[in-house]
Amino acid sequence: MGIESKTFRQWIMFNVQCSTFAVQFNKERVRSSAAKVDNASIAQRPCFLCKENRPAGQKSIDYQGRYEILENPYPIFPKHLTIPTYGHTPQTLQGRLGDMLQLAKDLPEYTVFYNGPKCGASAPDHMHFQAGSRHFMPIEDEWQDRIGDHLAVVGQARLHLMEDAPRNTLMMIAESQEDAITLFGGIMESLPRKMVNVLTYYEEGQWITFIFVRTKHRPTCYFAEGEEQMIISPASVDLGGVFITVREHDFLRISAADIEHILQEVCWQENEIGLFMTNIKKYART
Ligand SMILES: [Zn+2]
Repeated sequence: MGIESKTFRQWIMFNVQCSTFAVQFNKERVRSSAAKVDNASIAQRPCFLCKENRPAGQKSIDYQGRYEILENPYPIFPKHLTIPTYGHTPQTLQGRLGDMLQLAKDLPEYTVFYNGPKCGASAPDHMHFQAGSRHFMPIEDEWQDRIGDHLAVVGQARLHLMEDAPRNTLMMIAESQEDAITLFGGIMESLPRKMVNVLTYYEEGQWITFIFVRTKHRPTCYFAEGEEQMIISPASVDLGGVFITVREHDFLRISAADIEHILQEVCWQENEIGLFMTNIKKYART
């Protein structure tokens, strides 16, 4: 089962503690998976999201006079968009969750996602969202059976911790954009570390938002040498359930155990979750 196309191959194959993970072989994504994101490397390269460095004639659509909607030249999804700001300004969600939620509402065929700096963003120096075809990432169709009681409520926005260890996804369900923004602020304030990947989509009057809390950018296998090495650099899409491999060798040999191990390494685990649970209590409705 899967999708075959000129640019990528994919098959649905793994169950990691009851969550589905597909693996995609997509060598074009090496630009992102192996991107050097240290300050010195970033300073030396031309920014590929700034208009003057993009291919002449590349089409873009204006969004609210603040963002441009572009076709991603190296797609993971059947439809894949990159949505940078006009100006060259650092990647942050601070003050921009409303834009992200509005984009999700305005792009009903897409799931909108955000990769934090040091969480998979290959252009941490230029603010951008991405959007990909809905129902492509398994998590979108698996969360319904995995949410426990809510941890916190602000008006018409509720926060849950999914039962999907070792990914340990936070999930926000909101009917109100304003309440979602307030609750998200509380979530970020309560996190011991502000490293996140975020997915959101809008359906039947609700924003469904997944927040993957990170402890590190890249897993040990990324830096290993020889046979031990796998070039895997998880970001929103991987954590949503589509792992991207850029070398055929890695694609052919990755196992459910590897995925589980990578999730344990890059996603937050018990201690940090416990600390968060204490911090978020002030938002719990009694
Ligand atoms: Zn730029």
